Amino acid sequence: ASQRIPLVAGNWKMNFDHLEATYFVQQLAWKLRDIHFDYRHCEIALMPSFTSLRSVQVLVESDNLKIRYGAQAVSVTSQGAFTGDVSADMIAHLGCSYVIVGHSERRKYHPEDDANIVDQVRAVLAAGMQPILCVGESYEERRKGIELDFAVGQVHDVTRDLSDEEASRLIVAYEPVWAIGTGMVATPQSAQDAAKAIRDDLSATFGIHVGEAVRILYGGSVSSKNAEELIGEPDVDGFLIGGAALNVDELTRICQLT
Ligand code: PEP
Repeated sequence: ASQRIPLVAGNWKMNFDHLEATYFVQQLAWKLRDIHFDYRHCEIALMPSFTSLRSVQVLVESDNLKIRYGAQAVSVTSQGAFTGDVSADMIAHLGCSYVIVGHSERRKYHPEDDANIVDQVRAVLAAGMQPILCVGESYEERRKGIELDFAVGQVHDVTRDLSDEEASRLIVAYEPVWAIGTGMVATPQSAQDAAKAIRDDLSATFGIHVGEAVRILYGGSVSSKNAEELIGEPDVDGFLIGGAALNVDELTRICQLT
């Protein structure tokens, strides 16, 4: 068994204003308290919009909650004339632990390329937070049978110039694009195969101590119906969750199963 503590991370995307976010965190905290949830066995993190981070911070700090939180993207620059951008330090100063980097929706709609994603990863690490680096093949790569090489290549290209210490603070989310928001979930075996291939590559590049330290999450239509068998796989260390993280009962259930 590994020493890695599982992580359940909820990506709220562009949902919930700050009042809804506050209400959700309150409900989640109550439910977790009711069931005496053991945070030592499963870490929980929420990724609200920038506009809700301060509200979530106040709530978490005022009640000493063990729920962590983070942002969904970050600027690659530290300050200056970049209208509309938010820097890693600004996010870190709100008590954030994590930033999602390179989500497929960001790669598609913004668009973020590998060079930009490398710089985001570096900015997050330099600010003392952990990047949740999202990778995963589209349906086209899967059809061609090159999904493992593709996902491993995405991680490799973004991380190869990091130091061992930086790499050890990474979190990787394997999210096959065809599974995101579609209700089509990867089989436990294919989630395991991808996580193992990514871990092996990290071990080859940075050493086994890094490969074994990095948490690799699965993402793509995770729900309370499939979480248990996915987390049973040895290299799957938790989940990055979209739709199911908008429902407090569903999220609580997934945390219990993880
Ligand atoms: C995601 O957006 O990272 C995701 C996995 O979404 P969903 O759980 O809705 O498929």
